[in-house]
Amino acid sequence: MEQIIYKCFNSNCKCVFKGSNKDGLRCPKCKSTIKHFNFNPTQEELSKIPAYKELKENQTVNKKSWQEFRDNGLLWWINMILHTFGWSIVVDVEKDGTISNAYPARVKYRGFGGDYNSIGYKQVSKYMLDNAEYLEKESRE
Ligand SMILES: [Zn+2]
Repeated sequence: MEQIIYKCFNSNCKCVFKGSNKDGLRCPKCKSTIKHFNFNPTQEELSKIPAYKELKENQTVNKKSWQEFRDNGLLWWINMILHTFGWSIVVDVEKDGTISNAYPARVKYRGFGGDYNSIGYKQVSKYMLDNAEYLEKESRE
């Protein structure tokens, strides 16, 4: 079958892939809508571009940063559970806000102060609001 080159509509994603008739499917990386990019690619152009299936399979595990994990409130949330057992995932935050290290640790404290809890609940609630539709779809794949 003829191979077409598709491109993701999300300008931050820049995902390009090849496939035959992928109309109606979404970007294998970010799940945005896709558009035809090249209906008549040469063999050389096709050879440089990954297939839809390759990108899809590689997305089973999508490595993320500790920064994103923390910013979404997920570090706070998981640590609330770990505190029950006297454990925590500790991150070293540099002066510029970047995270230089992360490691599991035994801790003597349990739970977080009120301010941290307020921030944590807001972050996790926002994450759920922003991702609910995608998470529900992903659970059915
Ligand atoms: Zn994309």
